[in-house]
Amino acid sequence: MNSSKIQFYNTLSRKKEIFAPINPPDVSFYSCGPTVYDYAHIGNLRAYVFADILQKTLEYSGYKVRRVMNITDIGHLSSDADSGEDKMTKGLLREGKEFTLKNMREMAEFYTEKFKEDLQALNIEIPENIYYASDYVKEDIELVQKLEEKGYTYKISDGIYFNTSKMPDYGILWGVAKNREESRSRIIENSEKINSEDFALWKFNSKIGFESPWGKGFPGWHIECSAMGMKFLGEQFDIHTGGIDLIPTHHTNEIAQSECATGKKPFVRFWMHSEFVDTGGVKMSKSENNFLRLESLAVKNISPATYRFWLLMANYRTKVNFVWEALEGAETALKRLYGLYLDLENETPPRTGQVGHIHQEYQNKFKEFLEDDLDTPRALSLLWDVFKDENISNADKKATILDFDKIFGLGFADLKEEIIPEEILKLGEKIEEARKNKNFKESDRIREKIEKKWEYEVKNTATGTTFTKKKI
Ligand code: AMP
Ligand code: ZN
Repeated sequence: MNSSKIQFYNTLSRKKEIFAPINPPDVSFYSCGPTVYDYAHIGNLRAYVFADILQKTLEYSGYKVRRVMNITDIGHLSSDADSGEDKMTKGLLREGKEFTLKNMREMAEFYTEKFKEDLQALNIEIPENIYYASDYVKEDIELVQKLEEKGYTYKISDGIYFNTSKMPDYGILWGVAKNREESRSRIIENSEKINSEDFALWKFNSKIGFESPWGKGFPGWHIECSAMGMKFLGEQFDIHTGGIDLIPTHHTNEIAQSECATGKKPFVRFWMHSEFVDTGGVKMSKSENNFLRLESLAVKNISPATYRFWLLMANYRTKVNFVWEALEGAETALKRLYGLYLDLENETPPRTGQVGHIHQEYQNKFKEFLEDDLDTPRALSLLWDVFKDENISNADKKATILDFDKIFGLGFADLKEEIIPEEILKLGEKIEEARKNKNFKESDRIREKIEKKWEYEVKNTATGTTFTKKKI
């Protein structure tokens, strides 16, 4: 197993820390999953690209990862702080469906499938252990009962709440313990609550919901993740991920409930959070109606692989701003990388069957960059270096690039001939130049060369030169 020092930024300590799991080589890892009342947008998907890179880096370093992801299909209110409309109910209303648990579940399953399709398109490994929150309400109730027995709860007209003043270090993830006043101003008031930070463990709903000792209703969104995390990974586990917006309430409250229920600290050793995707300087979100789906990128011929590639150009803790020009630039750069890779395949004289070796020095650097808090921008620049290095055989380059791609997930191994090799594209530019100078003899000569050597049909069209692989 890997003995190098992996470092991750831990939101809990606000610094990079050496990562060591509780039970090496096993790593227990929980990712907060989507709320399935609508399609995911590309901002949401950043959180899952990040978790995927994290999982693959751990595996690359020799760890055995057990990753769990929840699907939030009940109990998530529009404001993370237990106010506003229930998101799933909002979804049913939008779709003109009756408010029943059955319809809620059907809608959840539909959007979960769509979510999985997005993950697949982005080359994200779908976690083996994905669970619907609505299947674990019994566990939620048991956890609330435990908190009730220990005196952490109280009842008001709309639900059972957690009394945060009973936990002296409530809010350490957010730094609230140090700055309670600031936190207060960010939470919507409910006059019946004892403290403004108190949050719902169980919300009453007389019309639709699950039976509980306190009355019909829904578990709080936070308790779902605590209960499922503990059920599948134990009372303490290694890593918990999500987007940064989950820090102040969702994850802060998960810590409070879990640690008060078990008496064990810390609930999770590494809390890791990915930054936002903004657009026009504002967070991409459904409520702002400024979001794009992965599918919508196709309108401008931006592939899911390009979106993934563009995200990896920035560290996961850096905010990124979506602009079409940047994505178009990424598409060009990725196509260039694909072309360079195909040139390695089409080398002359062909050395078919030659098995390459992963270049050790490059691999060591690659690992070093990723193990430094997932530094994907530096790892990507290394990819270009491998292509450019004249001291490595093409076969070794290919082996090294395919090895890197286990984490990058850009799809080099699946490239087929439809990607036109770089060399042909360059010759295409020469054809254009010759034709501009009316040197048709030269343009014909290059065309014939391409046709003979690579078996591509070359056509001069009004918009430029095109290449099509000849069918054999
Ligand atoms: P939701 O489906 O609303 O529960 O959100 C799923 C994940 O997407 C959460 O981890 C959020 O933190 C994350 N998220 C939401 N909006 C954005 C955004 N604009 N950029 C990056 N991540 C986001
Ligand atoms: Zn969660």
